[in-house]
Amino acid sequence: MIRIWLTGFVLLAFSTVARSQDSISSGEVERIITTLASDEMQGRKTFSPGIDKAASFIEQEFEKAGLQPWQGAKGFRQNFYMYRIKPVSVDLTINNEKRIPDDVIVQSSAGQLTWNQEGQVAEQHVKAGDNFYERIRELRQQKGNTIVWVDAAQAEAFRQYRQYLQNSNLMADSANLVLVLQQPTDTAIRSVNLEVRQQVTPLPLFNVVGMIPGSSKPDEYVIFSAHYDHLGIIAPVEQDSIANGADDDASGTTAVIALAYYFRHHSPARTLVFAAFTGEEMGSYGARYFSRQLDPAKVVAMFNIEMIGKEAKFGKNTAFITGFERSDFGPILQRNLEHSVFRFHPDPYPEQNLFFRSDNATLARLGVPAHTISTDQIDKDTLYHTVNDEVESLDIENITNTIKAIAQSAVSIVNGTDTPTRIEMDKPKSTVKP
Ligand SMILES: [Zn+2]
Repeated sequence: MIRIWLTGFVLLAFSTVARSQDSISSGEVERIITTLASDEMQGRKTFSPGIDKAASFIEQEFEKAGLQPWQGAKGFRQNFYMYRIKPVSVDLTINNEKRIPDDVIVQSSAGQLTWNQEGQVAEQHVKAGDNFYERIRELRQQKGNTIVWVDAAQAEAFRQYRQYLQNSNLMADSANLVLVLQQPTDTAIRSVNLEVRQQVTPLPLFNVVGMIPGSSKPDEYVIFSAHYDHLGIIAPVEQDSIANGADDDASGTTAVIALAYYFRHHSPARTLVFAAFTGEEMGSYGARYFSRQLDPAKVVAMFNIEMIGKEAKFGKNTAFITGFERSDFGPILQRNLEHSVFRFHPDPYPEQNLFFRSDNATLARLGVPAHTISTDQIDKDTLYHTVNDEVESLDIENITNTIKAIAQSAVSIVNGTDTPTRIEMDKPKSTVKP
C-alpha cells in the first residue's frame, strides 16, 4: 500500500515539476528567440516582407500552443490599415470667411471630404492652457466630423504639429478632425463649407492575437503582450545592416509565446489574451488599434514585456516594472514572488519616462493597470537600436528565469483572487528613486 501510494506521489510530483519546467525551458526560449531574431526576418520592419514572416511564425506557435483566436476572429492575425496621405487641396470657409491653408490642419484618412450642411459638424476647442498633444489625442478618440478651434496662444504648437504631419504622413482610421487656428473675430460656427482632396494609399498591418477563455471569469481579461516589429535594415556597421532586435523586442515576444504554452496547462479563471503588436517602433500603431477592439473596463491587468534579454541593474533574477507607483499591480506581483529568488523592482529610470514609451501606455491612459516589465539597463545599453542587438549578446538563462517569474507573479491575477487598482492619470509622475 505504502509503496503504491509513494510511487503515485512521486509520479505526481515528478509530472508537476516536469510540466512546469518543460513548458518554460531555456531550450524553447532559445528556439523561439533565435527564429524571431534571425536574418531571415530582416529586422521585422513594419510594412516589410520580414514582418510577415515573423507574424506567420507567431501564428504557428499560437496554434501549437492551443490558443483560440480573439473573440469573433477567424484567425490569429488582427488586420488593419494605416493610410499614407498626400494632401492635394484644402478649401475651407467658416461663417462665410475663407481660411488660409496655413491655418488649417486636416486629420482624416478619407480621399475626399465635403462638408456643406449645418448641424453635421461638431465644434471643439484646444484652449490656451491645454496640453496641445494630449488634447488632440483625446479629440481623435471621437467619432464623426469635428472642427477644432485652436486658440491663438497655441499657434507655435499648431505650426510644429503641422510640420510634423507633413514629414510623417501616416494616418490611422479615426475621426475626421479639421483643426483651425482661431482668429480674434471668430465666433461660434454658423456655417461650414469644406472641400478636401487627398491621395490615400492604404498600408496593411497586423497584430497577432490569441486567447485562452477563462473558466470562471471569462469577461475579465489579463493581457500578456510585446511588440514583434523592429527597425529592419539600417545603416551598415562592419557589413551588417540588419537590425535583428533580439532584445528589442524578440525577447518580449518570446515571453508571450512561452507564456501561452505555459498557461494552456493551467486552466485560468480569467480570460488570458496573448498579443504580439506591430508598429511599436513607428508609434505604437498596433497597440493603439488593439486597444480599440476591446472594452478597457474588462481588462484587469496588462503585462507588457519589453527587452528582458540582458541582466538588469539589480543583478541576475531581477526585473523592473514601469509606473510601479501608479497602481498596486507591482506589489501584487512582488507578493506572488515572495517564495522565489526572483525580485521585481520599481522602474529605476523614471527620468526615461519608460511608462509612456511602450505599448502599455494606450490602455494605461484609459485606466487599465497596464505596466511594462523589463530588465534593460537603458541608460548604458550600447546595443539598443543598433545592428548589434543580436541573440549572441543575450543571456538565455536569465530570460528563461524572467519568463518563469512573470508566470509566477501573475498567478493570483490569472486565478481571479487579486485585482490591481486602476490607474489614475492625473496622479503625479514617478517619485521613486533608484
Ligand atoms: Zn521595444
